Amino acid sequence: YPPIHVIGGGLAGSEAAWQIAQSGVPVILHEMRGVRGTDAHKSDGLAELVCSNSFRSDDATSNAVGVLHAEMRLAGSLIMRAADSNQVPAGGALAVDREGFSNAVTTAVEAHPLITVVREEITGLPPTEWDLAIIATGPLTAPGLAEAIRQETGADALAFFDAIAPIVYADTIDMDVCWHQSRYDKVGPGGTGKDYINCPMTEEQYNAFVDQLLASDTTGFKEWEGTPYFDGCLPIEVMAERGRETLRHGPMKPMGLTNAHNPTVKPYAVVQLRQDNALGTLYNMVGFQTKLKYGAQTEVFRLIPGLEKAEFARLGGLHRNTYINSPILLDHSLTLKSRPGLRFAGQITGCEGYVESASIGLLAGRFAAAERKGEKPTLPPATTAFGALLNHITGGHIVSEDEPGKRSFQPMNVNFGLFPPLEPGALTRPEGVKRFRGKDKALAKKQAIAARALGDCEVWLANEKS
Ligand code: FAD
Repeated sequence: YPPIHVIGGGLAGSEAAWQIAQSGVPVILHEMRGVRGTDAHKSDGLAELVCSNSFRSDDATSNAVGVLHAEMRLAGSLIMRAADSNQVPAGGALAVDREGFSNAVTTAVEAHPLITVVREEITGLPPTEWDLAIIATGPLTAPGLAEAIRQETGADALAFFDAIAPIVYADTIDMDVCWHQSRYDKVGPGGTGKDYINCPMTEEQYNAFVDQLLASDTTGFKEWEGTPYFDGCLPIEVMAERGRETLRHGPMKPMGLTNAHNPTVKPYAVVQLRQDNALGTLYNMVGFQTKLKYGAQTEVFRLIPGLEKAEFARLGGLHRNTYINSPILLDHSLTLKSRPGLRFAGQITGCEGYVESASIGLLAGRFAAAERKGEKPTLPPATTAFGALLNHITGGHIVSEDEPGKRSFQPMNVNFGLFPPLEPGALTRPEGVKRFRGKDKALAKKQAIAARALGDCEVWLANEKS
């Protein structure tokens, strides 16, 4: 077979190259480190971990990233093999010796007879002679290539920072306090006039919230990140610093909303949450991008009426991060719709984290290899962690009702909110348990989703081989 070109030898690119080569197709892996560095990487090794050395929970029975680990192992992942053989003690988490890990990946990739590693910067889109290619250049994609991607996709479709508002599991919002309503009952395309969840605040609650917000710790920007504040995307704590009333006239304005539980009392301020995925399991806090530390975020946001017991699928943040608007630009096999044969993988697709980036590299590699062999890529079922993450990236997003055409696509870690809910009746009360609710039920739900994912992943991989 002619080679497939993979650009970027990070977590995603190394895994993609490995998967392609293991399927018998040659690969040329282009990595610029050695010739040009990034602001965060310190070595020339492949799959360098730029910050923490943790792959997070390794619990495949009730943790979504643990399930993803297990699925990757089933699929013969090089990243998981190198992590497992360089593990350091970290309780239930999978943490690794970072140098040992990167060395293991580098050695395996360089020794593979079907992989050629070329140390060079790719400064534009792959030439047309590279009929099959994968761009896996990560959150710090070098400027020349980023500019070429921007020209291909359009300026609005490539972000250089993520401004992430926290995302809440819908079933942890107290609907005895909150209510569904769009501002002024506006019905946008595909909307119902009830598309937001609203959390009401009294003046006292608003003041207590603002006080706590101003007293909370924030994380600073790294020197090389700059300070990417622009109006429309200010962190809430920066808005609060500009004046006590700023939030109430911004994202927390109460206008056009009537508390369904108490229609005669006008809320002083309202926090709105917008549906974040087609399944309706996740809601994002509108306009709540923040640089608050994670611990501080849960503390402050649980002061919001109706969110006292909220669980967060992800907390807010603002980082340097190059990523594309994948739900619009990519098809389900991660191919750029405007350029057949060109796939994206890793964090640049809008997933988040080492494991997620590697897993999307794994899928992109398998899809590209199948295409090279003249086969149709088989997609992992939506019930698997692979499928749930892939669906987050390539579809499953709702179009925002008040901003037609704009999607609420934010980078995200894998989490149970991305999986389709269990079939009705799938959860039964375990024997000997009298009261089956609360934490016990939530755990049983996670266990059932995890077991379903691993079973379906095994079937998918078996069918892929046959
Ligand atoms: P990378 O691992 O960054 O790999 C991309 C590769 O492409 C790099 O080797 C780069 O040198 C190369 N490259 C870029 N442009 C070109 C080009 N034009 N030509 C050739 N090669 C090119 N995730 C976590 O799970 N935990 C963390 O603690 C964590 N901390 C982070 C800290 C920072 C500062 C950043 C920026 C990200 C962090 N992430 C973290 C997020 C993310 O998961 C990692 O960045 C992860 O490495 C992404 O994998 P990737 O393969 O998509 O990109």
